Amino acid sequence: MTSLPILAPTYTREYRISAKTALETALSSVPAYQTWRRHDRPSADIFARYQAMPVLTKVDLREHQPAEFVPQGRDLAAALARGEVELVKTSGSTSDAVTNVWCQEWWDASEACSWKLHTATESARLGAHREAILASPRCVGFASDVGYLSMEQRTLWNYLFLSEKADPAEWSATFCDRMIEELGRFEPVVFEANPSFLSVLCRHAIKHHRAVYQPAVVTLTYENPSLIHLRHIRSVFSCPVISSYGATESGYVFMQCEAGRLHQNVEHCHVDFQPLAARHGGPAVGRILVTTFHNPWRALLRFDMGDLVRLAAAPCPCGRRQGLTLDAIEGRLANATLSLAGRLVTQREADAAIAEVDGIDQYELVQTGVDTVAVRSVSDTRDPARIEPELRASLQRCYGAAMKITLERVRALSPVLGVKYRLTRADFEIDVDEFLAESP
Ligand SMILES: [Zn+2]
Repeated sequence: MTSLPILAPTYTREYRISAKTALETALSSVPAYQTWRRHDRPSADIFARYQAMPVLTKVDLREHQPAEFVPQGRDLAAALARGEVELVKTSGSTSDAVTNVWCQEWWDASEACSWKLHTATESARLGAHREAILASPRCVGFASDVGYLSMEQRTLWNYLFLSEKADPAEWSATFCDRMIEELGRFEPVVFEANPSFLSVLCRHAIKHHRAVYQPAVVTLTYENPSLIHLRHIRSVFSCPVISSYGATESGYVFMQCEAGRLHQNVEHCHVDFQPLAARHGGPAVGRILVTTFHNPWRALLRFDMGDLVRLAAAPCPCGRRQGLTLDAIEGRLANATLSLAGRLVTQREADAAIAEVDGIDQYELVQTGVDTVAVRSVSDTRDPARIEPELRASLQRCYGAAMKITLERVRALSPVLGVKYRLTRADFEIDVDEFLAESP
């Protein structure tokens, strides 16, 4: 047993019914879970039944046809023909594409449930609000590699997609000014952004003293924000800046409240937490497996999100008590690295080591071998000769004093395949099973 306090989640009776329905529907009538039935003990507690089940991975999603995740008796081909659902391919930056059945109505309901988790989104009467989006146009919106697109060409319903250019390293000052000017003209209630992309725009605004339109909220999604991004974003936006966590497969899973913790979207999903071994950050740090509720066209059971999270140790001062409460998203397992002693270093931990050094505006850390870490960084404001010894010392405190650190200063950094940045990663494979705590 450990002495580290972990906050036990509380669940309502309605939640237990949703969790039971999701599990039993999948096991009884969804072809992809046919082989899972033998793990079930129907007389056990519902959460023990979940824990007895295997884990669903992206490989499983690729190996099964989308129709195999639809409960029997529902006609996917007919729903596709009616336009009730569509097939959407995800373009993940760390694994191959997965085809998802996309049900807009379910997605919208999941998003609306998540808004209840922060007072600013709860009170903003969201629904048909104007929303500006800044992310890679290869993820959402409209891309143009050659020319520029007009504001009208980048507007769809109540959404304005600010950038048609996928690489922030190539954004000119004029282009950044256009985005700021359009924000002022469009007057969004919500500004949803990839934090890496928004950080580049904010650095431009800071450097050139531009006034930027203030929406009701800025929501950060697509990537786990760096402390450096948050610094840039908060110096430009005085409204609440809220992290929203989810995925195409899962919908909205966690959202940050006004007290800064993340709460589970309990009306929409169940989350199983599997702690890492104590030397790697467990039992507070672990991976999460998501089961979605109420999606008529896709049963997702114990889907491995590929992310590590940190459970809160105490109840959140905001008063929300249901489901899991997180202190932080620790980052993707695919972005984890290892200390010289073989301890898992999450993206959040490596980021904190880099962010404590003043003057770094952007970076990319790659562990090229077990004893070598290479960092490429961008600094607009501070002499690299002063940054380098501080950065080296901070990284050696994190990874071990004998870790070899190579540093390179660059003008700008680009997202992987024009989709997302990977702030940290190892060049070798890290298998989560080696880091999980032993099952009880
Ligand atoms: Zn809270």
